[in-house]
Amino acid sequence: MLDDTLARDRMVRELIERRGVRDPRVLAAMREVPRHLFVREHLMNQAYGDHALPIGEAQTISQPFIVARMTEILELDATRHKVLEVGTGSGYQTAILARLARWVYSLERIPELAHQAIRRMRQLGILNVKIQAFDGTVGWSEVAPFDRILVTAGAPVAPRPLLEQLGPGGRLLVPEGDRRRQRLVLYERIGRKVRRQELDEVAFVPLLGRHGWEAGGER
Ligand code: SAM
Repeated sequence: MLDDTLARDRMVRELIERRGVRDPRVLAAMREVPRHLFVREHLMNQAYGDHALPIGEAQTISQPFIVARMTEILELDATRHKVLEVGTGSGYQTAILARLARWVYSLERIPELAHQAIRRMRQLGILNVKIQAFDGTVGWSEVAPFDRILVTAGAPVAPRPLLEQLGPGGRLLVPEGDRRRQRLVLYERIGRKVRRQELDEVAFVPLLGRHGWEAGGER
């Protein structure tokens, strides 16, 4: 990368802001986190385009616009929010969340990806993140409840344990649909009720696990 700062600035202006993401804190985080360090070396020159890229183990780093859009929907508070992320992948979304929340707990079912993401957090000096290799569909009961929960893989429906681990006033954002195409669904815990709202169409890799899809041919 000759000048990754310029490339990120352009990515934010042309691919994210122009498509409707307006929260200045989200845009600043997208400008700051070096996405090229989360992709494989031979793909670094594609890091600031608006596409998902392979990260190994048949998984992908999400498209920057989707990362920004999902982050904006969460309405994070950097001074107090405890966030659970399900599907660490490369750790890119994790690093964005870490800039905008107090604590981030992230679960990844493929140990090699989790270990790589842990190394990247260290490399970037990110200290408010804990990553574990585990089935995220059961949540992380030891540190629940969470103010925000973000699922970055496609579920048949929102995993029940995640709804149970959502604290008062909490928001859970999860792609719901089939194994290829989904719709982002936002759950908000308001008093004793949970409000459900369907948002954008998306295409994530499947959420595999006890409260997700059954693992088949894919990893
Ligand atoms: N947000 C990530 C990033 O920025 O690189 C991309 C996430 S990728 C689209 C989805 C990830 O979810 C994959 O790494 C996959 O292994 C993981 N995953 C799928 N099912 C899971 C589960 N039950 N628990 C934890 N991670 C899971």
